[in-house]
Amino acid sequence: MATVLYDRDANMKVLEGKTVAVLGYGSQGHAHAQNLRDSGVSVVVGLHEGSRSRATAERDGFAVHSVGDAVQNADVVMFLMPDHVQGTVYRESVAPNLKKGAALAFAHGFSVHFSQVEAPKDNDVFMVAPKGPGHLVRRMYTEGRGVPCLLAVEQDASGHARELGLAYACALGGGRAGVLCTTFAEETETDLFGEQAVLCGGITELIKAGFDTLVDAGYQPEIAYFECLNEMKLIVDLMYEGGMGWMRYSVSDTAKYGDLTAGKKVIDGRVRETMKALLADVKDGSFAKDWMLENQCGRPRMKKWMQQEKSHPIEAVGKELRAMMPWMDAKSAPDA
Ligand code: NAD
Ligand code: MG
Repeated sequence: MATVLYDRDANMKVLEGKTVAVLGYGSQGHAHAQNLRDSGVSVVVGLHEGSRSRATAERDGFAVHSVGDAVQNADVVMFLMPDHVQGTVYRESVAPNLKKGAALAFAHGFSVHFSQVEAPKDNDVFMVAPKGPGHLVRRMYTEGRGVPCLLAVEQDASGHARELGLAYACALGGGRAGVLCTTFAEETETDLFGEQAVLCGGITELIKAGFDTLVDAGYQPEIAYFECLNEMKLIVDLMYEGGMGWMRYSVSDTAKYGDLTAGKKVIDGRVRETMKALLADVKDGSFAKDWMLENQCGRPRMKKWMQQEKSHPIEAVGKELRAMMPWMDAKSAPDA
């Protein structure tokens, strides 16, 4: 069984008198900086020259420094800029300014696990990874609740890295929901696999394949949208609330029988083999290498694919239908 820790297990004194530098003020950064401050921790924000987040951080009442200046006086340095830039930022701005004995902290294991950041042996390295998007990390904290977090220690130079990491997780609100102990390897590999095979890659292709099948067969795109995308949320909500059993209890017997006869034909042995291959590419670092290379040459394939995805007919029909449901607070991604 996994070890799950709560507020009552934490020694919050280890953060007293310490300064946390939050580097990056995006989805996670704004939540970490504000939650920690509200928990009584002294926080400074570090951003690169020209960051679009500067105005937001200042509006939220933070003094914004360059990364180097923020790091100089910090006892904990939390990396909340995009994963693919963390190695460069570490080498250029963090390492030369790092206080002796300061801890390096991460919200995802990518850059440490794939050796983009190689910390000196006398610094603690820990991870507090909220299992939810940043806006929820902030909102739930203000409501007296919290998003569960993963806690991992890669380097324990001080002998107190886990204690410090747990205090950080609790200051963030994670200790109200549960802090699960893991390793950098487990968090990184499961996170990358999950977003590729199931959460982002798997589900978007499943939805599009279903939509295309119906539309190609002559059915109305609006019907196909409601069937394959809109209703997905309702089904996932049921599973989220009570597992697959609760979902199956709620749908009709006909739906249940269709589920049981067809599901394994769609996600067949070949799909499971593909998933194993994806996991192998994550584990041996091939995916990380490919992603870093894509960034180094300016994301040519990613830009092209994003454009293709944007022009899939499900996006246009969805936009129209969502606009007809005013209670929905429909969102639209800004142009990249
Ligand atoms: P984001 O893209 O929302 O924000 C990135 C921030 O970093 C911005 O404020 C940007 O201005 C700043 N930044 C960019 N380049 C910088 C540089 N060179 N120096 C300093 N600041 C720079 O990022 P995010 O989604 O919050 O991700 C941050 C970390 O949190 C990543 O490690 C990510 O894997 C992890 N994480 C994210 C989520 C999530 O919900 N988004 C969930 C769990 C973990
Ligand atoms: Mg992820």
